[in-house]
Amino acid sequence: MSPTLFPTSVAGSLPKPAWLAETQKLWPAWQASGPALAAAKRDATLLSIKEQEDAGLDIITDGEQSRQHFVHGFLEQVEGIDFTRKVKMGIRNNRYDAMVPVVAGKLRLTGRVHATEARLLRAHTTRRTKFTLPGPMTIVDTLADEYYGDRKTLAFAFADLLNQEARGLQQDGIDIIQFDEPAFNVYMEDAATWGVEALHQAIDGLTCTTAVHICYGYGIEANITWKQSLGEQWRQYEQIFPALAASRINQVSLECVNSHVPPNLMALLEGKDVMVGVIDVANNRIETKEEVAATIAAALQFVPKERLFPCTNCGLAPMPREIAQAKLQALAAGARLACTAV
Ligand code: ZN
Repeated sequence: MSPTLFPTSVAGSLPKPAWLAETQKLWPAWQASGPALAAAKRDATLLSIKEQEDAGLDIITDGEQSRQHFVHGFLEQVEGIDFTRKVKMGIRNNRYDAMVPVVAGKLRLTGRVHATEARLLRAHTTRRTKFTLPGPMTIVDTLADEYYGDRKTLAFAFADLLNQEARGLQQDGIDIIQFDEPAFNVYMEDAATWGVEALHQAIDGLTCTTAVHICYGYGIEANITWKQSLGEQWRQYEQIFPALAASRINQVSLECVNSHVPPNLMALLEGKDVMVGVIDVANNRIETKEEVAATIAAALQFVPKERLFPCTNCGLAPMPREIAQAKLQALAAGARLACTAV
């Protein structure tokens, strides 16, 4: 039985089966193409739903099985982006290089991006559903621009497209729409001055629950090295949480366990639901349910119990699949244990 308190979910992606895509990679190559790939994506989405339910999660996602990468999956339906011309770019303030496509003309959505996965998700679970989209600022930080000329203008152009897709997802019956904005933790001033406004444009007119996920990145080598350079206390959230607390976004997903984020920064999110990262995605050790419950208990000092949503620190896409599954079970078991203690 799922607990009434502490509803659990993943922050975003889950590993893909080996028959769908290369494993343990951030930009994996698909193992098929055309109709065979479309069928494989559907099958993997159904499996992912089943595995999240079996682990005991309360809020179910599509596991991002249909997108190669959390940003570029959305971009594939955007006209104005030249995917034939990828350039090498240092992203997240030059933390690591990526091969990124180029914005070469006016942006326009050619149709629905995630209707297939969203409708599959809604049709195959009776639990609450969450769907993730990349945030405008993070999109802008993950491609090259030769048309709009400045990041803010480009971000607002993307916010319009995201809004179109988000309205479609809401119509498909999705309960929570989450925007992933790891770039907020890198460009804190821009995040507070226009990043949150771009999110407002992306959620315009939505009546479903809205969320933003802000983390310190996937558990890949470049991110682990970067985190080691951030010092004893990671205070990036301190600069952006006040703007989010004042925003119209309902939920904030943050990194917590094994991070150097001072837990009291969560108190800056007063009035918001807080998705607290209680599962580390940067190592393969499976948390015990007692550890998960202890992280929840620590967060309860700063987040009211009705507003605490245990979550993973970030997506689990690059992890071994069996490790990810065991971590999901630990997440659900730890939340249940925490319920018995309050
Ligand atoms: Zn993340």
